[in-house]
Amino acid sequence: MPPLVNASRCTGCAGKEESFCERACPGDLMAVSPQSGKAFCRAANECWDCMSCIKVCPSGALELRIPYQIGYFGARLRPILGRNSITWKCRDINGVESTYSYRNRTN
Ligand code: SF4
Ligand code: SF4
Repeated sequence: MPPLVNASRCTGCAGKEESFCERACPGDLMAVSPQSGKAFCRAANECWDCMSCIKVCPSGALELRIPYQIGYFGARLRPILGRNSITWKCRDINGVESTYSYRNRTN
């Protein structure tokens, strides 16, 4: 399931030759629409939810749609990368958001 793009947050990585999400996707699936200037996944069926694009987006514009087998429709997961940590914001199907932060660097 491809990432969900929050159009109000996506800047299209304006000024960059290639957007962060395009560079990060190992399957070359992300692109920025020349019409809207917003990111989209050009081959939804080929996305394997690796979250690389979601982690690198500097605007927090991408979210993982949690598969219904785990979270049912409407559940979302968004990582926010810090210098030495990662924070996960998880929204359940009722809109309740939980935040989990972990250190991911030791020096
Ligand atoms: S990295 Fe984020 S802000 Fe940049 S084009 Fe992709 S979704 Fe938009
Ligand atoms: S989640 Fe992974 S495979 Fe899917 S579009 Fe993003 S970087 Fe590509």
